[in-house]
Amino acid sequence: MEFGCHCRAFWASITRPPTKLVNCHCGLCRQLSGAAYSTWTTVQADGFSILQSVGIRRYRPTDTIARAFCEICGTHVFTEDRRLPAMIGIPAGIIVGGTLPEPAAHYFVDDKAGWHSIGDAIPCFGGANGMMPRP
Ligand SMILES: [Zn+2]
Ligand SMILES: [Zn+2]
Repeated sequence: MEFGCHCRAFWASITRPPTKLVNCHCGLCRQLSGAAYSTWTTVQADGFSILQSVGIRRYRPTDTIARAFCEICGTHVFTEDRRLPAMIGIPAGIIVGGTLPEPAAHYFVDDKAGWHSIGDAIPCFGGANGMMPRP
């Protein structure tokens, strides 16, 4: 499965299709995306290959996270987390081909935007770590 940024300066492939999507409502995801939440998938780093990379930059919003984006079109293309070196986070919206599963959960719902209402019935999690079950 291949995907990339909007201008195609960045192009990558993953050997195994994503099996799980989650919605993250944390403050970082909201501010960095400008949207109510980010939908993420996580893939094994050893199955992730960068095929073309012209002008990728990394922004480090925390000590452990590096968010890679295309310096030409600004698309967020993947995120690395030093705490989880075997995994790569991919914003699900950039994967335009293939079939992705529906999101399995909402995380950090206590931090969600006040103007956004969650309108589906998938499980919600919140609390300080974003992963405590919520009704
Ligand atoms: Zn681009
Ligand atoms: Zn988040």
